[in-house]
Amino acid sequence: MPEFRTEPLVVPSVSGLLPEGERDRRVALTSFATRASEHRVPQREIICYECGKRCSVPAAALSAHCIHCHRHLNLADMEIKPGSHRLTVRTAGRVFVPAETELSAPLSVRCGDLEIRGHITGSFFCTGCLTIASSLQLSGAVRAAELRVEKGACVTLKEGARVRTATVAGHVQGILRARGIVRVLRTGMLEGDCAAEQVAVEPGGQWLGQPLR
Ligand SMILES: [Zn+2]
Repeated sequence: MPEFRTEPLVVPSVSGLLPEGERDRRVALTSFATRASEHRVPQREIICYECGKRCSVPAAALSAHCIHCHRHLNLADMEIKPGSHRLTVRTAGRVFVPAETELSAPLSVRCGDLEIRGHITGSFFCTGCLTIASSLQLSGAVRAAELRVEKGACVTLKEGARVRTATVAGHVQGILRARGIVRVLRTGMLEGDCAAEQVAVEPGGQWLGQPLR
């Protein structure tokens, strides 16, 4: 443990400013406590759902403030249960929609990972992976770092989707814009135009659409 010394960080002087060397020395002295405590509290990385930047938060925290945009962030994992009246979901955690959930009112979801097994609609912004395992008509904008449509799922993207990468093992209808690779697996069908670094279609898979620029 470094010895803890208290010294005033700013001392009155004629100019009101400390010489650079003295300021650095005092900052180094007073940052002992912070650095030591950071090592004791396990941290995890999240992506802020308001500004999209990465920040480090205590692993056990249920909320925090983004160090970039200063907005309050919910960090809890959530489940959207059947009969939920919630229309807006904001969390940097994981959101799960179980198979028995059926909601007709459009939701607005901003979260880390999202796994949809039930039936919902709306707009979805996931800083992590959006997994869809049920048949859905998504009426709003869809953005995700990674999109996975599982085998047997049939998804209509009315406003298209913007993703980094996508893996299609089910049926996707709509315009897909990806920065990286779009993979259509052997059970998959992509029906719609697609902008991507590469569209990789496995034997058995189908892509019915045109490349977009
Ligand atoms: Zn932020």
